[in-house]
Amino acid sequence: MTLYTDSTEVAQYIQGARSAGSSTRTQAVYNPATGAVARHVRLGNAADVDAAVASAQAAFPAWSDTPPIRRARVMFKFLELLNAHKDELARVITAEHGKVFTDAQGEVARGIDIVEFACGISQLLKGDFTDQVSTGIDNWTLRQPLGVVAGITPFNFPVMVPMWMFPVAIAAGNTFVLKPSPLDPSPSLMIAELFKKAGLPDGVFNVVQGDKEAVDALLVHPDVKAVSFVGSTPIANHIYETGAHHGKRVQALGGAKNHMVVMPDADIDQAVDALIGAGYGSAGERCMAISVAVLVGDVAERLIPKLLARTKTLKVLDGMNLAAEMGPIVTQLAHDRITGYIAQGVKEGATLLHDGRDFNGAAAGAGCDNGFWMGGTLFDNVTPEMRIYKEEIFGPVLSCVRVADLAQAVDLINAHEFGNGVSCFTRDGNVAREFSRRIQVGMVGINVPIPVPMAWHGFGGWKKSLFGDMHAYGEEGVRFYTKQKSIMQRWPESIGKGAEFVMPTAK
Ligand code: NAD
Repeated sequence: MTLYTDSTEVAQYIQGARSAGSSTRTQAVYNPATGAVARHVRLGNAADVDAAVASAQAAFPAWSDTPPIRRARVMFKFLELLNAHKDELARVITAEHGKVFTDAQGEVARGIDIVEFACGISQLLKGDFTDQVSTGIDNWTLRQPLGVVAGITPFNFPVMVPMWMFPVAIAAGNTFVLKPSPLDPSPSLMIAELFKKAGLPDGVFNVVQGDKEAVDALLVHPDVKAVSFVGSTPIANHIYETGAHHGKRVQALGGAKNHMVVMPDADIDQAVDALIGAGYGSAGERCMAISVAVLVGDVAERLIPKLLARTKTLKVLDGMNLAAEMGPIVTQLAHDRITGYIAQGVKEGATLLHDGRDFNGAAAGAGCDNGFWMGGTLFDNVTPEMRIYKEEIFGPVLSCVRVADLAQAVDLINAHEFGNGVSCFTRDGNVAREFSRRIQVGMVGINVPIPVPMAWHGFGGWKKSLFGDMHAYGEEGVRFYTKQKSIMQRWPESIGKGAEFVMPTAK
């Protein structure tokens, strides 16, 4: 396998081979730890999208006709290869995204979970059958693949988020075009090559690198039957509306602002650990990161001193240093956006307890002086009117909001426009139950800070965190990538009773 380190340019993967494509536009891919340009990615154009979709379209008849159990065997082989190469994938993630290596290993492991789930596709596609719906007539339903489907994915999980999509789509008999983020494009090519090695026929999995140009070409392409998107809310909205306008099935997962409620009876040390890990892990660049701590009653007085002490001692280091708890920010642009939000919070009157802008990259390791570094930032006395409360910062900035009781906490969270994940730390079972039932959020954790559902449960937020009907992966994923067909059949000795003009009913 050609590793990312061998290439100075990352381009397309079409019809089972790397391809330069026809685009002349490129974008720099950085090593966020050092700030250096590591390689370039070629930004695909409409002709590259056409080539990838044509390759997928040509592969569809044979692949969709392949018995699910044989498709599953390819997935099993792919699973084996992924396990053999999982640390290489994690290293590439750290090199281009910046997240710490152990976290990258976790990302790969959670992606592999979905491949394991997809290996059970024969069972998942099993239809329903009713014998004798009317005399001599049986009725059954089956699910068939859609055709060519596309996945458009964000920078923050360059392995796991594509794996929310393509294992299920491909196992179900579809062919796939992936458009990864141009910020960390290399894992997509490693995945494509492992798939080929696993015996996946050419054209079933294709990659077009790029930005808006490639995305817009996918959204209007007549042969693309469905689009799965994960990214920020404004783009998710655009994808949903444009894709639907062009007759496609769309699931578009958007941004987030995840709250963690800490009740007065919670175990304070556990809650502090959870806030530190979920607030600053992956530098807050997770859609399930906790960015707001909702501190109920008098808990703030006991929790904030410990939270502040931990924020100050956060180990911000090069991601390949195994002691690292947090790595750099993905790009200078993202770094500027986050520091801008910190300045905004100060301007709006929030209490800045710890300022991550003071962190000097040189402290993160050799060669890190010019990387995109910052430390964890902690705000107290944040209020719902502030922009740092309302908007997604997507960085290592944790805001504490104080409320009087559970009812106020629930009202606060339910009024927020995002509804991806939420968490409640308490020792009271009834509080936990009421919270879970009343909260208007798609994924809920009770004493679990980042409740990312397992492969067979499906992932999805509510409100502006998801546009569309179906969550990603799990059985909802199987439904998204297949359409139901109902077949009613009879084999009478003789049908000749003349035409029937009334609605057929059971006889
Ligand atoms: P992004 O929206 O900038 O990019 C996502 C994808 O859309 C990328 O492939 C990008 O190339 C493409 N894109 C960007 N601008 C576009 C445009 N104008 N037109 C068409 N396509 C465009 O998101 P990001 O910065 O890569 O990722 C971070 C965002 O993703 C955060 O908002 C985060 O909350 C969200 N996210 C959500 C989930 C979820 O499950 N809800 C999971 C991961 C990330």
